[in-house]
Amino acid sequence: MDNKIKLYFDDGLLDTYLNAFPICQQYGVTGILAIVTGYVGKKIDWEDHVDLDCCMNIQQIKEMVSQGWTIASHSVTHRNLTNLSGEELRWELEESKNWIIKNLEVQPIEFVPPYGKYKRHQKSIILQHYQFFRSNSIIDRTFSRLIKKKYAVFHKCSKRELLKCLGVMG
Ligand SMILES: [Zn+2]
Repeated sequence: MDNKIKLYFDDGLLDTYLNAFPICQQYGVTGILAIVTGYVGKKIDWEDHVDLDCCMNIQQIKEMVSQGWTIASHSVTHRNLTNLSGEELRWELEESKNWIIKNLEVQPIEFVPPYGKYKRHQKSIILQHYQFFRSNSIIDRTFSRLIKKKYAVFHKCSKRELLKCLGVMG
């Protein structure tokens, strides 16, 4: 189904599989799953994350792909790109892409920079590996902006937020 508004679910959290996926199924909508390939099936322990959420495993991601969800790369390690050398950046871009192709058998065309951060000169490097990337990381909890932005970004999300968003879409 072609959604009017793109729904992004960043980080590939188990929460997305358990809570958001069934609701989206019910509404007949699909989203974009931005996964951190080095953390598939693992607990999150990157920089600013304190609550140790778990990421979904390959089987769970595959199930969502089979239901029409799109996979985007959200890097391998979720490091802030602005701290990376050119070589490190390329590794994050290539390695995550290769992982997705090998393990999920889909070709990712979009990259979602961790924290929505990147340096100006890094844009062209990202675009050497992906057709496009999301330039905004706003986690939109006030859905008034949705219509204008045409997309919403979720991490761990409450059913209430998601239902509200789907209500705006419908
Ligand atoms: Zn993230």
